[in-house]
Amino acid sequence: DSASVAQVINPATGEQGKSYPLTSLNDALQSADRAHAVQREWRKASFADRAAVIGKVCELLRERADDFAALMTQEMGKTLTDGRAEVEKCAAHCDWFAKNAERYLADQPIIVDGAGEVFVTFNPLGVVLVVMPWNFPFWQVIRFAAPALMAGNGAVLKHASNVPGCALAIEQLLKDAGLPDGLFHTLLLPSKEIAKLIESPHIAAVTLTGSVAAGKSVAAAAGRVLKKCVLELGGSDAYLILDDADAVAAAKVAATARMVNGGQSCIAGKRFIVVEPLKQRFEEAMVEAMRGYAMGDPADEATRLGPMQSVGARDEVHEQVEKSIAKGARLLLGGEVPDRPGAWYPATVLTDVAEGQPAHDEEIFGPVAAIIAAKDEADAIRIANDSEFGLGSGVLTGDIDRGRRIARDLLDAGMSFVNENVRSDPRMPFGGVKHSGYGRECADYGIREFVNIKTVLVK
Ligand code: NAP
Repeated sequence: DSASVAQVINPATGEQGKSYPLTSLNDALQSADRAHAVQREWRKASFADRAAVIGKVCELLRERADDFAALMTQEMGKTLTDGRAEVEKCAAHCDWFAKNAERYLADQPIIVDGAGEVFVTFNPLGVVLVVMPWNFPFWQVIRFAAPALMAGNGAVLKHASNVPGCALAIEQLLKDAGLPDGLFHTLLLPSKEIAKLIESPHIAAVTLTGSVAAGKSVAAAAGRVLKKCVLELGGSDAYLILDDADAVAAAKVAATARMVNGGQSCIAGKRFIVVEPLKQRFEEAMVEAMRGYAMGDPADEATRLGPMQSVGARDEVHEQVEKSIAKGARLLLGGEVPDRPGAWYPATVLTDVAEGQPAHDEEIFGPVAAIIAAKDEADAIRIANDSEFGLGSGVLTGDIDRGRRIARDLLDAGMSFVNENVRSDPRMPFGGVKHSGYGRECADYGIREFVNIKTVLVK
């Protein structure tokens, strides 16, 4: 019955695909026990031995890129082109951590006069419970897994329920690369069982990438048993378009930022705050740039906008658009649900977006750009920061000193990019403030989230 399987539905057609039996809580707890036992050995492996496995994961990702991309297209509608790029990004990430984990986690000597030998060392924490979303089914998991495994941890994965095939393919990938059997498990566990699994004595910590609601629920469960957690949650990234910006160049960056993964990305640009003198020119340029994202078959290499992940998610986005219009936003492009099966929504531009409208106050997780007018630079910064979120942000300006100052000192966000759309990269820390979560992934900061920062003194 529907309560005991994960059912895949192809978002492009609405047709049912494969179904997979769900994991019981009991089996999940046993997987945690097993991962814990295997992790006790893995933590003794040298960096070179771990790097050999993660290096092999990199190789296999490249070999299987076409299959993995096709799987993502079937399960959550990503275009094949984006899927291949995602798998390549995962491969590069594995390569980076295979080569750099040892340097990031090298012992750090400390000089303490009269104390003898003092240093900091980084021991793995144990088995991490990993709760992940469907929007980058491979990247989200690998972004966590490559550094965490290199640090000597194990993991149990609870992936989003609409990407079971991707979740199982990742487990198989790690196994085929030579990861010790049982160190990493995929569980097709309903999210209502997560709190119980967190209580397992063999789960050391939790990481969740997903919505604010899911983050609060997991953080509360982790808090009750005092376990560390890292949260990568939603965003409503603002880009400031200042009076000295080139409207066409700015719109190009803005549209690229908005349309990452069909608009379904935490770090997609969602609010475009333009100063009054440039407003009309930016609106025109933005409509032009967004028009370039025509809907099409995600399996066609030329397609720039596939379906959304599900009809439910599409309906939610459309409702946010309609409510915004009812409250005074003006529709410049798109905004109509196409009359065809599947989760389709066109590239959409709203302007005159203001407080009280969903496009202003909430995250819109789809291909909808919201243009908000500001009086001047200070007003634009105020609007950007007047959000429950603080993930990425951007400044589009002709004056890079001005851009740097605003990005460095004035925007409340985990990442601020000048004249470029925000993206993740294994070499740069990634994460947010406010309701966008806490903790970081990637780089040295990321790999040190799931370690015991241990001080050793030898006299
Ligand atoms: P979601 O509903 O929160 O799902 C994310 C994961 O959490 C899924 O595995 C889901 O499982 C699980 N989950 C949901 N409710 C839960 C609960 N109460 N307790 C435990 N686990 C729970 O997120 P989504 O709507 O699919 O994804 C979009 C959101 O993720 C957006 O807000 C986006 O901005 C955010 N996101 C953030 C980042 C980042 O790095 N900051 C990256 C990507 C996405 P089920 O599928 O079984 O419900």
